[in-house]
Amino acid sequence: MADKFDVIVIGAGPGGYVAAIRAAQMGLKTACVEKWIGKDGKVAHGGTCLNVGCIPSKALLEASHKFVEAKHDFDDMGIQASDVQMDVKKMVARKDKIVKNLTGGISGLFKANGVTAIEGTGKVVAKDQVEVTDLDGKASTYQASNIVIAAGSVPVEIPPTPMTDDLIVDSTGALEFQEAPKRLGVIGAGVIGLELGSVWNRLGSEVTVLEALDSFLPMVDTAIAKETQKLLKKQGLDIKLNARVTGSEVKGKEVVVKYEDSEGEQTVTFDKLIVCVGRRPYTKGVVADGLGVELDQRGFIHVDDQCRTSVPGVYAIGDCVRGPMLAHKASEEGVMVADIIAGHKAQMNYDAIPSVIYTYPEVAWVGMTEQDAKAAGIKVKTGSFPFAASGRAMANNATEGQAKVIADAETDRVLGMHIVGQHAGEMIAQGVIAMEFGSSAEDLALTCYAHPTMSEAVHEAALAVDGHAIHMANRKKR
Ligand SMILES: Cc1cc2nc3c(=O)[nH]c(=O)nc-3n(C[C@H](O)[C@H](O)[C@H](O)COP(=O)(O)OP(=O)(O)OC[C@H]3O[C@@H](n4cnc5c(N)ncnc54)[C@H](O)[C@@H]3O)c2cc1C
Repeated sequence: MADKFDVIVIGAGPGGYVAAIRAAQMGLKTACVEKWIGKDGKVAHGGTCLNVGCIPSKALLEASHKFVEAKHDFDDMGIQASDVQMDVKKMVARKDKIVKNLTGGISGLFKANGVTAIEGTGKVVAKDQVEVTDLDGKASTYQASNIVIAAGSVPVEIPPTPMTDDLIVDSTGALEFQEAPKRLGVIGAGVIGLELGSVWNRLGSEVTVLEALDSFLPMVDTAIAKETQKLLKKQGLDIKLNARVTGSEVKGKEVVVKYEDSEGEQTVTFDKLIVCVGRRPYTKGVVADGLGVELDQRGFIHVDDQCRTSVPGVYAIGDCVRGPMLAHKASEEGVMVADIIAGHKAQMNYDAIPSVIYTYPEVAWVGMTEQDAKAAGIKVKTGSFPFAASGRAMANNATEGQAKVIADAETDRVLGMHIVGQHAGEMIAQGVIAMEFGSSAEDLALTCYAHPTMSEAVHEAALAVDGHAIHMANRKKR
């Protein structure tokens, strides 16, 4: 039997590495097992988020956005930048460099905090034992008083569009194109599909997004979703709703896709196809059979509100358990679990987890939509403010979008905030803090905001909840 630990974490994504660092900070003897192999052939920490998710996608989104700005938007501001060219290979290489820096940084943080990094595939073989099979196939067993499973998720594949080496790819493959395909198909108008579709649309691809649902971004407030759809369409994304993909055929260097919509069966030909229909928990084989750790029908590990599995001392966090598949949700669960193991009281507020779509403009939200609140029988009052009326947005050449605040009609408590606009992902933190502190819309309205800032739109939206916006005509109360 190898070393004994207070905590062994399986998986070093944003859930696992954060849990491991926090546990070590709490004075617990901690190890973290990881099996991800990076581009250099060595084990890489950081999971999906750092290697093939949040960070690399944002590196390409930022570079492609700057290209569009320089090519099309600078002129409006009196800047002539003629002959703007893109170098996709260089953009991808920059993305890879950022990934390497960050994943290497996690290894540094492990050392600095005294976390033992174990390379290999971990499996819970008893409630206090983890077996690790290293890269050479040698198995070792480690003793642990507590085990945290943070095994993450992988892309869902669908039978009509089986992956091929380079024509039909998932989100990971879509971060590796070395040039913009002429005709790009994206299956799925969710967060990842819209972000990746935006990258390649900006770099010159004709992008068609096929979405089986008949509504666009149903998790976002309807007013914000409608405006987002209009803006993305204006940018050239051809988003087809109610389009259910039924088959595909690779013909030479093209992919012919069949889908059904309200008019019957349709056929469309692409040079590349990205399948972004969601992710599934990556839990197969991570726990020995018969141990009693319950999984649901979709493979998620069953946990309570504090991420305890059905076996005492074994916890599970992040994408492999219920809740939104988001890096910050995984990390917060990691902190909570480490604190609980260290003997502290800890809990998470699942009602105040922000979501962001990093398109341009960004879409960000937290809490309830107006339609959610109404469906739950809660009487609400709302206030919206368009960026078209914001001085800073005009100065930034970013007048598209709006901020919307949803408050309880009786108590005035903020129930949700939804924003589409430049830097919406930064601004939404105000809604999260407001909800975390149980603020009222009036609390936001009475707060002094710096001028001129994009955030003033949130202030005005909060003022508008009671018909007191200053920089626009208020809606007459019925
Ligand atoms: C293209 C894309 C863009 C995204 N953008 C965002 C974004 O902008 N913001 C956001 O919040 N989220 C984003 N996400 C989602 C985000 O990446 C995930 O929610 C997050 O990574 C989940 O963290 P995790 O720690 O639960 O799992 P993961 O990050 O998936 O990490 C799990 C780790 O566990 C390891 N592992 C699994 N099984 C074992 C085992 N048996 N032994 C050893 N190691 C094991 C895996 O190798 C992996 O490294 C994006 C995802 C994608 C694909």
